[in-house]
Amino acid sequence: MKEFWSREETIPRNKLEKLQEKKLKAQIKHLYNNSPFYRRKFKKAGLKPRDIRNLGDLRKIPFTTKEELRESQARNPPFGDFLAVSPGECTRVYTSSGTSGKYVWHAFTEEDWKKWVDLSARQYYTIGVRKDDIFAHFFNFNYIKTGHVVSEGVAKIGALVVSAGTGGTLRHIETLKDLGVTAIASTPTYALYLAQRAEERGVNPGELPVEKGLFGGEPGTEIPEYRKRLESVFGIRAYDGWGITDIGIPVAVECGEQCGAHVFEDAVIVEVVDEDGERVSDGEKGEIVYTDLTNRAMPLLRFRSRDVGIFTTEECSCGRTSGRFLSGIIGRLDDMIKIRGVQVFPSQIMDIIGKFRELTGDFRIVLAEEVMDRLIIKAELKRGYDEDDVRSRLEEEIKNFVGVRPEIIFVNEGSMKKYEWKTPLIEDLRKRPF
Ligand SMILES: [Zn+2]
Repeated sequence: MKEFWSREETIPRNKLEKLQEKKLKAQIKHLYNNSPFYRRKFKKAGLKPRDIRNLGDLRKIPFTTKEELRESQARNPPFGDFLAVSPGECTRVYTSSGTSGKYVWHAFTEEDWKKWVDLSARQYYTIGVRKDDIFAHFFNFNYIKTGHVVSEGVAKIGALVVSAGTGGTLRHIETLKDLGVTAIASTPTYALYLAQRAEERGVNPGELPVEKGLFGGEPGTEIPEYRKRLESVFGIRAYDGWGITDIGIPVAVECGEQCGAHVFEDAVIVEVVDEDGERVSDGEKGEIVYTDLTNRAMPLLRFRSRDVGIFTTEECSCGRTSGRFLSGIIGRLDDMIKIRGVQVFPSQIMDIIGKFRELTGDFRIVLAEEVMDRLIIKAELKRGYDEDDVRSRLEEEIKNFVGVRPEIIFVNEGSMKKYEWKTPLIEDLRKRPF
């Protein structure tokens, strides 16, 4: 059986960069000729496709933001003028979920779709899913492509696929038992919720035949304590992997070394930039910027994802030559809160909460006042533990790692609202002007 899904995964780094360069030039030519949106951006910047001769020239191209996509679709409904093929060529349309503002429509051709399916297959093949596996996933299907592309990708490997979707947790537990599911995928919080509900029903999740899982869609798996919890509760190996809805394609997955998610660099170019939009060095933290080398219908150049991460092209011992995101996605710029001048990401709090066996792992950061000078954290405390003891240790731990002493509110185990898709980690109680 082959070790890698695609030939591109192990080609020498210099050849990989040549491939990126070739695809980038073709993409720019395509967009300049067919996308009014990008032709306008190029003209405004005084650029012609021939000015982009190599990967270094990429930085001459202006960034693309989600706001620009929204504006383009508002002016030219429904798809906006960044559509670079005729609408008749598109066979699928999805929306990108957004925490703020109207969603954006993303249309794709059948050829685009087939490429994603293959990248999805690459993700699951990398975490060890094979023909003999029975695979169930609990991703959303409503308007979002994730559920569809995951099902198709794993079916392409030849495994048996259960498109369980979200909702109906008790039925999912039955399914895991009845079919003897060996591989799963969901958001990390949903996986833990599923385990908890199974235990309540007298099913030990550790005794289920599940062996491996891919957990994405929100931070979690790349956080060591959270990963340990996922792995120990199910007795599995838990891998981090994700896609970017705005780009449309599965983008990264961890290999067996579990030392950061490999980016599919033959399909997408990754840059990491600072607040001024300047590239940071390899291994430094910044906002992740994507350039799509794959899609034809709505490819984006230098799209500012608002996700914060660390990227490195350092070699990995698995043999893949693509760069990796170290520590996954650290957070979303939109979720970052500043308390007394200190930057706090919910994922940092998640990491610390995950270390406490006395807590269920469910928590919220509560925003209670306009001027942020208090960090308030609400967390579920398991039954039978001493509140004061856990509080003082948790306060100390957060103070040490985040730099701000928090106020902790404990609530009863199971009392927080459960979400099957993305869990909102911030509860905003601030007074609104309306
Ligand atoms: Zn690797």
